[in-house]
Amino acid sequence: MSKDIYVIAEQRDGVLAKVGKELIGEATKLAADLGEKVVAVVLGSKIKEEAAKLYAYGADEVVVIDNPVLKSYTTEPYAKALTELIAKCEPNIVLFGATSIGRDLAPRVAGRVHTGLTADCTGLAIDEETKLLLMTRPAFGGNIMATIVCKDYRPQMATVRPGVMKALEKDASKTGEVKVLDVALTAADMNVEILEEVKETKKAVDITEAKILVSGGRGIGSAKGFDMLRECAAELGGEVASSRSCVDAGWIESDRQVGQTGKTVRPELYIACGISGAIQHVAGMENSEFVVSINKNDTAAIFSVSDLGVVGDVNVIIPKLTEALKKYNAEKNN
Ligand SMILES: Cc1cc2nc3c(=O)[nH]c(=O)nc-3n(C[C@H](O)[C@H](O)[C@H](O)COP(=O)(O)OP(=O)(O)OC[C@H]3O[C@@H](n4cnc5c(N)ncnc54)[C@H](O)[C@@H]3O)c2cc1C
Repeated sequence: MSKDIYVIAEQRDGVLAKVGKELIGEATKLAADLGEKVVAVVLGSKIKEEAAKLYAYGADEVVVIDNPVLKSYTTEPYAKALTELIAKCEPNIVLFGATSIGRDLAPRVAGRVHTGLTADCTGLAIDEETKLLLMTRPAFGGNIMATIVCKDYRPQMATVRPGVMKALEKDASKTGEVKVLDVALTAADMNVEILEEVKETKKAVDITEAKILVSGGRGIGSAKGFDMLRECAAELGGEVASSRSCVDAGWIESDRQVGQTGKTVRPELYIACGISGAIQHVAGMENSEFVVSINKNDTAAIFSVSDLGVVGDVNVIIPKLTEALKKYNAEKNN
């Protein structure tokens, strides 16, 4: 019988990605409702020691598939290894991060084991009566939230974007043995040969890591409006983020976009400047700890997800706020 929740915890260059820890955190809640275990799975080469760290984030069991062929991600060997793991272990639920790797891998594995896959879930829960996994995600252009169940096939599979779920606090006292699962993989399974790995050298901004985000929408008026936001963000020790309108207008780079088709953020402070609060934007920032919104329209939807709303012209309010912050920081440093 299918049982337990398997989390595919991604590694790159031998280092575990944050999304795996987040999924384990969520899986512990689902596992409690099911009375099942959380099993973290890591694929890679010489990865045992790193994988063992997942016990501290809530895994009940850690399994590695360790093979030189799995050192860097390629589709075929990873899909083959996971298909074998599912056949051997018969998990009830399998969760992946909706990263570039997870988006490539999860549908292939789902196809091979003949089950369904719900991509980009924003919520997971267990139905009290049926004990089925309830997988919630935006549908129809983000205008409704659909809850999907996979009644007849196992495992139930879902992908979740980085930043959507919350990792448990690390508990270093939790340790355990890492189990090694043998999968017969040879160089012949590599239908793609990696000739060279080229790392992006541009200093990548990761707005999902920022504690403070000053986010601009169409209301800031132009690309120059972001200079004003950057100055404010610098005084706060934060980063600049954006709605999709500004990205589409070419005012700012796409890696700063928050929302359904951008990044999911949960900073301590999110300042929404001239953002209307469309459902697709809110989907990416609603879990922020404290939201301040500045909008000249007092009925803007963004106010309904804000802790503090300021009705007014952002081009007047932000420079005043920056000025006040500069004064405050200067006094603090004296
Ligand atoms: C499938 C799909 C996916 C999408 N994904 C995303 C996504 O990931 N992220 C995202 O953001 N959007 C996304 N969108 C687009 C989304 O629907 C909205 O169109 C977009 O979020 C609107 O951006 P905005 O709030 O900056 O602009 P607008 O909706 O035009 O709002 C501008 C706001 O600024 C206010 N304003 C104007 N001037 C001032 C001023 N001087 N001072 C103060 N306030 C002012 C206005 O009152 C208004 O509320 C998606 C849409 C679809 C269909």
